[in-house]
Amino acid sequence: MTAQDAAAAPATLTPRPGVLDIAPYKGGESKAEGANRVFKLSANENPYGPSPRAVEAFRACADRLADYPDGGATALREAIAEAEGLEADRIVCGAGSDELISLLCQAYAGPGDEVLHARHGFLMYAISARAAGATPVAAEERDLTADVDALLAACTERTRLVFLANPNNPTGTLLPAAEVERLADGLPPGVLLVLDAAYAEYVDAEDYDPGAGLVASRGNVAMLRTFSKIHGLAALRIGWLYGPEPVVDVLNRVRGPFNVNAPAIAAGAAAAADRDWAAESAAKNARWRDWLAARLAEAGAPCTRSHGNFVLAEFGAEGPASAAEADAFLKARGLIARRMEGYGLPAHLRISVGTGEACEAVAAAVAAFRRERA
Ligand code: PMP
Repeated sequence: MTAQDAAAAPATLTPRPGVLDIAPYKGGESKAEGANRVFKLSANENPYGPSPRAVEAFRACADRLADYPDGGATALREAIAEAEGLEADRIVCGAGSDELISLLCQAYAGPGDEVLHARHGFLMYAISARAAGATPVAAEERDLTADVDALLAACTERTRLVFLANPNNPTGTLLPAAEVERLADGLPPGVLLVLDAAYAEYVDAEDYDPGAGLVASRGNVAMLRTFSKIHGLAALRIGWLYGPEPVVDVLNRVRGPFNVNAPAIAAGAAAAADRDWAAESAAKNARWRDWLAARLAEAGAPCTRSHGNFVLAEFGAEGPASAAEADAFLKARGLIARRMEGYGLPAHLRISVGTGEACEAVAAAVAAFRRERA
């Protein structure tokens, strides 16, 4: 058989059961045809970008690209530990927290196992569960917010992992610390609770805890974080997990030996140390997030109370004032939002909180849309 013949014989190349059930994750769009000014508000990126110190550290790597990175990402783990008051030995870094979600599913769940998440939880939990051959299970929410009783009720003897994004993407909603603790306490032993705190730095609620305390006091809780949001380094793909020593050990066995690249390690370490830059981003985000949510509500597109760097605005599922129509209306004006059908929310659009200029443009466009269509 020639190589060409082999390439034309796909029937023999059957992936594991479940893989072809995966609807591939689609990143936020970035193009708006015909618009001369574009604001990409579809991927919850940081409109203010990374700390200048991180950019400088990234550039300094250009002279050393022939060398493999430090496989233990030591400088990055130490910088995170220092900034967050954590133990560096209990941190594992990944190529984005996406990679760590995937590795957790591969290491802890397989065929016959269940991976539990909230109905409108971050999509990568179900995708990664399926990729590992496991079955994703969605627990119902209450008011677009994860419901601890529903999560506990959906837990079976096959459940291996529970993912809770807190705050959640795309709903922006939050569970208070006491509820998260109740969830951790209610899970059977042998189930790992993964608290995905990708948006932790944006939260200003007083009863919030990203989860490091629970990691320290329980053996069944891990916390995920990312440099893609507050640190403005999504392009470099840096995520990290803080977890019990056995979980850290497992991830260090299954991850690639150099899964975090050298510029990511250097820039991430510099970003972690620049706390003022991160605090400034968070303050600007809070101001514009709340301003935008209020303007959209006034215009007739109410938003959930978001604790992240985005808002989830409700339009309609059908008709001239639908979310799909609003999306097209915004896109024609260079404002790229995110459709939510993939999350089972066809009446909603998720809109990242951009700069003040972007937020003002979104508010004006939504008001014009509602005047024209509603
Ligand atoms: N978790 C949540 C809740 C997210 O919203 C995202 C980003 N979309 C991620 C994890 C993944 O982030 P990254 O892979 O860029 O670290």
